Amino acid sequence: AAVPLATVPDPGDRLLGGLLSPDFDDRSCLSRYRAARYRRASRHALSPHLVSALRRYESLHRLCAPGTPAYARALGRLRANASGDGADPSGTRCDYLVWTPNAGLGNRILSIAAGFLYALLTDRVLLLNGSRHEDLDDLFCEPFPGSTWILPPRDFPVRKKLTIDTAESLGSTLGRGEAPGGAPWLYLHLVHNYRTPDRLFFCDDVQTQLRRVPWLVFQADNYFVPGLFLIPRYERELSRMFPRRDAVFHHLGRYLFHPSNTVWGMVTRYHGSYFAKADERLGIQVRTFKWAPISTDDFYGQILKCTHRENILPAVVARAAANTSTGGADGQQAAKRKAVVVVSLHGEYSERLRDLYHEHGTAAGEAMSVFQPTHLGEQHIGDRQQNQKALAEMVLLSFSDVVVTTGVSTFGYVIQGLAGLRPWVLVRPDHGKAPDTPCRLAPTIEPCFHRPPNYDCRTKARGDTGRTVQHIRHCEDFPEGVQLL
Ligand code: GDP
Repeated sequence: AAVPLATVPDPGDRLLGGLLSPDFDDRSCLSRYRAARYRRASRHALSPHLVSALRRYESLHRLCAPGTPAYARALGRLRANASGDGADPSGTRCDYLVWTPNAGLGNRILSIAAGFLYALLTDRVLLLNGSRHEDLDDLFCEPFPGSTWILPPRDFPVRKKLTIDTAESLGSTLGRGEAPGGAPWLYLHLVHNYRTPDRLFFCDDVQTQLRRVPWLVFQADNYFVPGLFLIPRYERELSRMFPRRDAVFHHLGRYLFHPSNTVWGMVTRYHGSYFAKADERLGIQVRTFKWAPISTDDFYGQILKCTHRENILPAVVARAAANTSTGGADGQQAAKRKAVVVVSLHGEYSERLRDLYHEHGTAAGEAMSVFQPTHLGEQHIGDRQQNQKALAEMVLLSFSDVVVTTGVSTFGYVIQGLAGLRPWVLVRPDHGKAPDTPCRLAPTIEPCFHRPPNYDCRTKARGDTGRTVQHIRHCEDFPEGVQLL
């Protein structure tokens, strides 16, 4: 049969070309239908097959979500430690994928999106277990109409801390030589430190066995979507959902992650103060990592070199040469207003940029303004207000016309994905110094999967995930990782 062509949604379409369901009350989640007014329209084609898969998923979620009779029955079987083989007498069978938080907000958003795609592919219902951290509170809206994706923690019997050594993990089960298929629940450890038996998750035969396990609980700090593209049984469905593979997170992210009204309030206030009056909006995300140290001076120098070289920010000129026109009242052309929003845990970068443009003019006389919403100093994982601010900043930066991000940062991946823009990526330091090439335009908007399995399921030996299939390559910002092209 002829496959209908994927289309790019109309700008200003609040349902994003059918990506979003119309079945929501606008007031319960102001951002859902309003973000489209602030963001550039997507330039990435959306396939009708993905749209119908989402509508189908929403019906399944409604049928199986917490609060439904089907959920109560499935939970009863889990409590009784029953395997998935007995058919439900009512005829509906609900299988679940339970997400468990791990690492910072960027990692969490990426692992939820990856889990959701796995749920779509395997007809499972995705539930978020935020119980131990309470940090999902007032962060996101519900993404699925008429139901919840939050797992009520009180009646969920799997309470133990899940680690690489958990006896019920896929890796431990396979390590004991047992077949995983008969278990009532299984833990998938998809965290960067995972070992070979856990990595077999990405093999077809293991996927066959997992189909029989009604509850899968997973933990990931990684965007493992490229790994799903390695599994032959999902190939056809993935190619229909994503005829172009380079915008998977972009679509799933715009579908799933709508900031709560509290967070949306911050976003619109930031937007009103910083971006609304500008002719051009530039977002710069500055992230420093302990494993890649660089001095503030060097990193600031790298940011300037990048933004000047790529004509992202205008160079400053000596006072006499500066064009000081501000509004065109003197008959000159009105100066362009450029707003720069810097997000970072540290305040120094935006302070220096602001001083630079306060003290000097530019050749074309642009009116430059530089802002930074917060500078929290250090990261506090699992703090509700920190998460809210971090999400507000990610969403605000996704409204930019041009983005500069720091390589390897999942915080930056979320910004570029939601924006649908290939970012200028600040290259990681070279032995503590700024690298010669300060930044590069990313080859894709897709996030990097930092810890691919590097296992060849056919030869049952180590393999290079970046060389297995044509459309998965090593990442430019983090060559150990892989990404979809
Ligand atoms: P990654 O470590 O860069 O991959 O990004 P994550 O989002 O996973 O973890 C970093 C955490 O530090 C975030 O979740 C925030 O809590 C905090 N953080 C890092 N950079 C920023 C920033 O620019 N703004 C804010 N508000 N928080 C940040």
